[in-house]
Amino acid sequence: MMNSREIRKQFLKFFEDKSHEIVSSAPMVIKDDPTLMFTNAGMNQFKEYFLGNKVPKNQRATDTQKCLRVSGKHNDLEEVGKDTYHHTMFEMLGNWSFGDYFKKDAIKWAWELLTEVYKIDKDILYITVFEGADAEGLPMDQDAYDFWKEIVPESRIILGNKKDNFWEMGDQGPCGPSSEIHVDIRSAEEKAKIPGADLVNQDHPQVVEIWNLVFMEFNRKADGSLEKLPAQHVDTGMGFERLCMVLQGKKSNYDTDVFTPIIREIETITNSKYGVKEEIDIAIRVIADHVRAVSFAIADGQLPSNTGAGYVIRRILRRAIRYGFTFLDQKEAFIYKLVDTLIKQMHEFFPELKKEKNIIINVIREEENSFLRTLAQGLVLLDNIIGANTDKVISGSKAFELYDTYGFPIDLTALILDEKGFQLDEKGFQEELEKQKNRSRAATKIETGDWEVLIDDPIEEFVGYDTLETQVRITRYRKV
Ligand code: ATP
Ligand code: MG
Ligand code: MG
Ligand code: MG
Repeated sequence: MMNSREIRKQFLKFFEDKSHEIVSSAPMVIKDDPTLMFTNAGMNQFKEYFLGNKVPKNQRATDTQKCLRVSGKHNDLEEVGKDTYHHTMFEMLGNWSFGDYFKKDAIKWAWELLTEVYKIDKDILYITVFEGADAEGLPMDQDAYDFWKEIVPESRIILGNKKDNFWEMGDQGPCGPSSEIHVDIRSAEEKAKIPGADLVNQDHPQVVEIWNLVFMEFNRKADGSLEKLPAQHVDTGMGFERLCMVLQGKKSNYDTDVFTPIIREIETITNSKYGVKEEIDIAIRVIADHVRAVSFAIADGQLPSNTGAGYVIRRILRRAIRYGFTFLDQKEAFIYKLVDTLIKQMHEFFPELKKEKNIIINVIREEENSFLRTLAQGLVLLDNIIGANTDKVISGSKAFELYDTYGFPIDLTALILDEKGFQLDEKGFQEELEKQKNRSRAATKIETGDWEVLIDDPIEEFVGYDTLETQVRITRYRKV
């Protein structure tokens, strides 16, 4: 069985042999594009080539890109852990043509790589092609359909709508029709019940999209209109972890060697078992996923904070802490202990992890401790609220106070109340939330502070938390 390192290498080599330059992953954290907070696809770093604002040295490139899909147009956060094939942070393998080859070669090579190099059984692959969108005057992608027809039986080519087969980077930016390759890895028995074609794009955990071939032809402008790009480009993205799942004969990304070392470590540390109880499995997947996202973000210089991109990272980590706290009974910091295993698994290809190891561990540990204190405090407060209550319904404003002033997560409040036979006035809570959106953030709120890392010390130094008043300390982190 091919391990994930070999799988990644083979992809890059395949396109290198076809005159593509192997380029490095861009940072996952984006600092200079107001339309995007985090890299959400391999093409982001090439945006200016597509738009015709810059000319690449080489018209063909290939890479594996660290992506994070937790905000904006591509946001998978709520899915992560619940399903087995969406991650927050994942690697996207890609090949690009900047005004060079187009649909025919992109399709031919994708098929060659999957079926001849990786030797995936042709019969488990399905293709989707853009059906067109009248409202925007976009025609069906007949060219792609015809190229596919030469290599795949038509019964396995499916037309897809704008949502699935017209790829857009964000509300603005390069876009175009796409052809996607989906894989059906169900058991023969399951396959006999429903044809794979019926399950494509239906959120079936074993009929999943693995590769998207985008034919970049348009730019979505700020006013929502489409303009033709000066040239035609190819932009492909294949989910690395999903590819590993297929090639390693697994039913879940989390059963591949990308994740199993971390999962084993979680089992050991938390004294739990993966694969026995769904609730526990979800928690383990959430933690295994989120520790990657947070570690890579920190390695890229994005520390948790109270605003912007840093707040997104803090929320991801807190989601992991909360799942550990609630379902794995982890009342003390433990996620930071997983970083070593993660680094062992990934450092060859992503040396930045190793380089920033200490800061990653320190920051995660401190964030955990701080949030666990919040949780402990909140539990006491919630107990008091419950104790003083007579009608078994907790008002929205009380729950909101816990949430807003003490940072206690509302879903945890709901869970605890439910366990104790109490009800939460969710409507009241939502109303309070709405009201708050219209207010500016209270200046005196007790919150966890932002990070500051000394930049003039040759040894990275951990400064620690400012747990009292909020306001903002600069989060830029630089290591000398
Ligand atoms: P899906 O329909 O499964 O959500 P997508 O159409 O949103 O995927 P694309 O934007 O086409 O995904 O990205 C290219 C490839 O990246 C996908 O074919 C898939 O293999 C992979 N991918 C997308 N989102 C994720 C994710 N959250 N985690 C892991 N891999 C992903
Ligand atoms: Mg998606
Ligand atoms: Mg899709
Ligand atoms: Mg897609």
